[in-house]
Parts: sequence; C-alpha cells; structure tokens
Amino acid sequence: MSAGVSHVVVVGGGSAGWLTAALLAAEHRAGEPGGLQVTLIESPGTPPIGVGEGTWPSMRDTLRRIGVTETGLVRECDASFKQGSRFVGWVDGRKEDCYHHPFMLPQGYTEADLVSGWLRHHADAPFAEVACVQPALCALGKAPKQAVTPEYAAVVNYAYHFDAGKFGLYLRRHAVGTLGVEHVVDHVQAVNSHPNGDIASLQTQNHGALSGDLFVDCTGLPSLLLGRHYGVPLLSQQPVLFNDTALALQVPYSDERAPIASQTIATARTHGWIWDIGLPTRRGVGYVFSSAHTTLEAAERELRDYIQRTGGPAEIPSPRRLSFSPGYRERFWHRNCVAIGLSSGFIEPLEASALALVELSATMLCEDMPATREAMDIVARRFNDSFGYRWSRVIDFLKLHYVLSRRDDSPYWRDHRSQASVPERLREQLLLWRDRPPSRHDVPRAEEVFPSASYQYVLYGMGFRPDAADGTRRADAADRAAGYFRDAANLTRKMLPALPSNRELIDHIRAHGLHRI
Ligand SMILES: Cc1cc2nc3c(=O)[nH]c(=O)nc-3n(C[C@H](O)[C@H](O)[C@H](O)COP(=O)(O)OP(=O)(O)OC[C@H]3O[C@@H](n4cnc5c(N)ncnc54)[C@H](O)[C@@H]3O)c2cc1C
Repeated sequence: MSAGVSHVVVVGGGSAGWLTAALLAAEHRAGEPGGLQVTLIESPGTPPIGVGEGTWPSMRDTLRRIGVTETGLVRECDASFKQGSRFVGWVDGRKEDCYHHPFMLPQGYTEADLVSGWLRHHADAPFAEVACVQPALCALGKAPKQAVTPEYAAVVNYAYHFDAGKFGLYLRRHAVGTLGVEHVVDHVQAVNSHPNGDIASLQTQNHGALSGDLFVDCTGLPSLLLGRHYGVPLLSQQPVLFNDTALALQVPYSDERAPIASQTIATARTHGWIWDIGLPTRRGVGYVFSSAHTTLEAAERELRDYIQRTGGPAEIPSPRRLSFSPGYRERFWHRNCVAIGLSSGFIEPLEASALALVELSATMLCEDMPATREAMDIVARRFNDSFGYRWSRVIDFLKLHYVLSRRDDSPYWRDHRSQASVPERLREQLLLWRDRPPSRHDVPRAEEVFPSASYQYVLYGMGFRPDAADGTRRADAADRAAGYFRDAANLTRKMLPALPSNRELIDHIRAHGLHRI
C-alpha cells in the first residue's frame, strides 16, 4: 500500500509561505484529530522580500477562506482598496496618454458586441470609460463599497493594496494562533533524500532533521528545494520581457489626509515603468526596468524625478535595489516537492499577477491534495500542465502592454516591438483581433488568469483598432451596445455621490470596523 500524505512542510515565511500554510491548515483541519499536519519553517536570517503590495480581487475570497477579517486587514496591514490599474504614458508618452484596466467587466459584457458599439458611437472616448463605471470612480478616489457594506462584500469589484511585511505577520498570527500551523524559526541547511529521490527531511541548524510527506518550496527567488536541490531549470523570459531590476521606495504623503489612490498607477518611463501604490500612511513607489538598456544611476534619477513631480519630499532616501531573472520553472511540482511563489518564477510586477498565482497554486494544492504518495505523481502532472499554461498566458498578457506601444524614445521600447520578441500565440491572436474582439475562445480554459475582458481593456486602451474600425459590419449589435453604455453612465451618476472616498472608508473601518454578513 502506498504511504499516506499526512504532514506538509512549507519552507519560507513570505506571503507565499503564509498564504499556502494558512489555506492548507484552514481547509484540511490542521491541529484537529485526523487533520493534516502543517509545519512552516522560516529562516531567522533571511527576511521575506518585502515587496508585493498590489493584489487581485481573488484575494478577498482567499482571505475569507483562511478566516481572517477584512477589518483586521485594514487595521493591521495598512491596507487600502484597489479597483484596477491606470496606465500612464504607455501608448505614445504624450501628455494625455492614459488608460484604465478596471476589475469590473464592461457593462453588458456577454450580452452585446460592445466593441462594435464603442467604435460606432464613441470611438473618440476611451473604451473602459465608456463601458465601465470604475474609471470615473477611480478618478475621484472613491472606495468600492459603503461603510454599511459587510466584510468582503462589494458595490464594485475590488482588491487591496497593503504593506507586504505587515501582511505576512498578520497571516502568521492567524495561521499559528488559530489554525494550528506549527512554526519553526530555523535555517534549512541541507536536504535529506529517500533512496527513490523523494525528500525525506530538511536538515535545520537548531532543530535537526524535520521530516514530512510533501514539501512546499516557498523560499523565494533562491528556490532552495525545486531549483537548487532538484535542479529544475528556470525558463528565461528575458527575450520577451526585458525588465530584471527594480528600485523601490516608501514615500510619505505631504499631508496625512491626502487622498489615497483607488488604483495602481503604472507610469511608463524611458526604460521601464514606475509603480505607485497608495496605502493609508504612505505610498509604495518603484521603478522596474531593464538593466541591459539603462544604468542604475540613470534609473534612480528617473525615479527621483517622478517622486518629486508627484508631490513627494525633496529629500528621498536611497532606494532599495531588487534583481531578478524573468522566468518560470520548467515544472513546478517534482517528486514530493511543489514550488509556490517566487521559487516557481517571477516575471515583473506589471498587472500584479504574482500573488494571484500563489492563490491559484495554493488553492489547487488544497483541493487536489493527494491522499497517498502514489496519487501524488498524477496530481503533480496536472498541476504542472495547469501552471505551465498559466505562466505562458501571463507572458502573453504582459507583452501585450509593450508590443502595441508607439513610444519611440529609447531602444527599450523599440526592442519590445521586434517581432522576434513576441510569443507566437500572441502574434496569432493579434492577427485574429484585427477582425474581432478578444473573446472566450482566446482564453478557453476554466480559471484563466486573465479574462477576455482584460485583453479588451488593454488592447483598446493601447490604441489598437480593428480593420473594420467603424464597426459598420455589425450595426445592429452596435446599437444594442448603446443601451449598456447608457446603463454604465447612469450607474456612474448614482454611485459617485453614494460612495465614500477611499480614505473616508478606511477611517471608518479603523474606528468602527465592518460588520459580518
Ligand atoms: C519589485 C517587485 C515588485 C512586486 N510587486 C508585486 C505586486 O504588486 N503584486 C504581486 O502580487 N506580487 C508582486 N511581487 C511579487 C511578490 O513580492 C511575491 O510573489 C510575494 O512576496 C511572495 O514572495 P515569496 O513568499 O515567494 O518569497 P519571499 O518573500 O522572498 O520569502 C522567502 C522566505 O523563504 C525563507 N527562506 C529562504 N531560504 C531559507 C532557508 N534556507 N531556510 C529557511 N527558510 C528560508 C525566508 O526566510 C523567507 O521567509 C513583486 C516582486 C518584486 C521583486
């Protein structure tokens, strides 16, 4: 009979480690008789990466399943509400160059051919602003819900911005204090193997050998188990997406009552782009760029210039430098070891998909947890197929932001347009989209990372126009769409006065909390 899987050892105490351990413990009754034993080991000498402050709406469901409160998240993690991203300067870099990728689907998305309707009736206005309420809400720094809206419920779809360091500690308290995760603070020095090549135990500095049935590698960029021990290679994506370095800073507000932005602001620069994330007590700002195209000094000058021009203080400390090789592992689950988080790969922070992939990985692990070692290889094969597919869709979607840019201010932007740098599948899709909008046929799997609506927001936001750009071929459908655009405009008019600002809602939650459903 094949050995059972009753003890999971997670190595790494960053966001990936704590999210995975907490989900496993919550859904497999850790600490209860017959439940799964979950142990998390983190090194005292290697802090988590400490960036990763933008999330997706899926995080609401993940946190609800783990059993933490949204009120606690706001109070303890310096969290604010995020309704999508605003892209500034990506199309041609001119002054008014800006578009939105909101979290809500366009109004009437599955009911009418909105793209034909937009091209026929509103072609001079940005697609997202015609089809969705969120760009207008974000322009005024609105919250996605009211003070009376219960925990995790929404008026409009939303995610969070939060302090990554505080988030890890928040999850840790709950995972250890409530969910029964065993926490070992120790450095893993070596891997001890079974004769068949499975991991038998991890050799730690002070706790000896810690054994388990399944090992989750959440050790961050070093990828201690999957990468270093098993030698599973990283598939480099640098020829497609060039960014490999980031300079990150925490920027204080000039006034503690300053508005908190309701979306991540992503501003294109000469050799990359700058993220700007508004938390209640500070902004998180960073420049991610290609080290092959510029120098650290030049990049830092661009970052300082941005901070000054967006109301930051004159004196700014030196930014923190982070380097990474854009890519993902050839496989993610090998023998009795599965990598989740940075250990499985990282491309760049555009569209903030890294934590979403952690949530998807941890969820699949929880739901498909093999009961025996024999079943593990089958689950591993499916896991590898799912995540190989998901990573390549992430690559396509991120590349879409660059390949359509008309910026001509540096070789960086010109190189991004070279056909050799565009993945085959994306090239094919761009050809299909000349005649029809992105649809469910372009993203055919259940639980795709980015829905077809996201492709539409970015494609048309980046200025792409189909060959029949007047939409005349689909006049009836276009007229039906006009009704949905009116609905979106009416909803916007109703919501604007009814929703508090991001800061007002956060102040309310800090003082009174949100009520539970
Ligand atoms: C510049 C930048 C910006 C980003 N922005 C975003 C964003 O906006 N949104 C998003 O979703 N993601 C973002 N990410 C990605 C995000 O930061 C990570 O996906 C997330 O923080 C998870 O990291 P992790 O837990 O995998 O690794 P880490 O946080 O690096 O944690 C690694 C853990 O492993 C432990 N460890 C390492 N070696 C050992 C050992 N030998 N023994 C024991 N323990 C060990 C360490 O102690 C640590 O606890 C960004 C990343 C970068 C680089």
